[in-house]
Amino acid sequence: MALDKIVIVGTGQGGFQAAASLRQEGYEGEITMIGDEAGLPYQRPPLSKAYMKEANIERIQLRPENFYTQNRINLVDATRVEQIDRAERAVVTSAGDRIAYDHLILATGARNAVTPIKGIHEERVFGLRSMMDADHLRSTLEDAKHVIIIGGGFIGLEFAAVAREMGREVVVLEAASRLMERAVSPEMSSHFERIHCDRGTMLKFGQPVVEVSDEGAYRPCRARLANGDSFDGDFILLAAGVRPNQELAAATGLSTANGIIVNQLLLTSDANISALGDCAAFPDPRTGELIRLESVQAASDHARTIARRLTGKPAAYTALPWFWSDQFDAKLQIAGLPSGADKSFVRKGNGDEYCVYRFAENKLVCVETVNSAREHMTARKLLATGSEPVFWDDLKQVGFELAALMKRQKEMAST
Ligand code: FAD
Repeated sequence: MALDKIVIVGTGQGGFQAAASLRQEGYEGEITMIGDEAGLPYQRPPLSKAYMKEANIERIQLRPENFYTQNRINLVDATRVEQIDRAERAVVTSAGDRIAYDHLILATGARNAVTPIKGIHEERVFGLRSMMDADHLRSTLEDAKHVIIIGGGFIGLEFAAVAREMGREVVVLEAASRLMERAVSPEMSSHFERIHCDRGTMLKFGQPVVEVSDEGAYRPCRARLANGDSFDGDFILLAAGVRPNQELAAATGLSTANGIIVNQLLLTSDANISALGDCAAFPDPRTGELIRLESVQAASDHARTIARRLTGKPAAYTALPWFWSDQFDAKLQIAGLPSGADKSFVRKGNGDEYCVYRFAENKLVCVETVNSAREHMTARKLLATGSEPVFWDDLKQVGFELAALMKRQKEMAST
């Protein structure tokens, strides 16, 4: 079937990349992007980093306005897609329009999880997902002295770092026993615990927040833990993870389960609909298990894979996952996924370099680095699909330096 009309729902990182890659791959038909946020597509990572300190909208926009006109991309902003009519191949928008498609790409992302805490809908409890959220938080932070953050994951900690740099008192309340528990090794959690404590952030572990209220003794709000301890602050940032925006897909009968289920080509259970990024549950090329990633890399690489398929170059999605987070002057970079990791090696490099190599049954599966871009880039090459597996003993022989291992591999290949 000729593809004359491609509609993309969601104008975030993945939606933007899908439109841009379709044109790069030579697609000549109509592209319509529909997003419920107002304005041009922008990057989310700076929202909890540089943009929180200085609101420079142009710096975070993915492309200026003329990119969309020059590339004949019809950008419909501030409009929600409310329904998908699969039989007629059309979407229905909040403006009452019916827009036909030959192929539909769902790039609806995720939204902040709202944990069932008593009083969580209090006025002074905020989330951080959109530019609007960031603007609101920044202006609240200006007048605040004490900040309470629920959740010691990436976003909570990045915001904690910014707030401390601005001289605010910060407490992070984490129900798990360590920071960034879902994503990093215990060694890396401890490393970041030291970084935040050294800068004066108070960290509390192991107790869930059970209630928030406006009854602080000295401050307008209070968070109470299960053990009865309570903390007063000027406002609360709730950063307790996200949920995929899959309801639109589920309502039209597409398979979902913690994300819109897609195959290795990122096709949903309907051959005319693809899904990508934060909203998509896809098979991990290494284990076959369905996974969902929340990263710029996954959203962008998914989009490129879909664009290639829709322009006649289908290939399974096999990109290596990678991620970064900036907290104070520590740049954390992660290459690979720690599936099955049962052993780690820690190497402290020059200055503030810190690397954790994670192994599953002696095979290297994931490398976490702090302030070591070179080791991170080498890890991405060594762990990429098709590379030779790297084993504990190989790395031990070169003092756990990936560049040395790579050099050795090259020398052996050339003899
Ligand atoms: P999104 O970028 O979330 O875009 C989805 C869009 O779809 C949204 O605009 C949403 O409003 C819209 N939408 C949803 N439903 C509908 C509908 N029915 N109709 C119309 N529009 C709809 N990743 C990293 O790799 N490194 C980082 O350092 C990092 N930092 C981050 C910091 C913050 C504060 C946040 C929020 C995220 C961060 N991320 C980071 C994650 C990264 O930004 C996301 O993984 C990425 O944006 C996912 O892209 P996406 O296109 O899947 O979804």
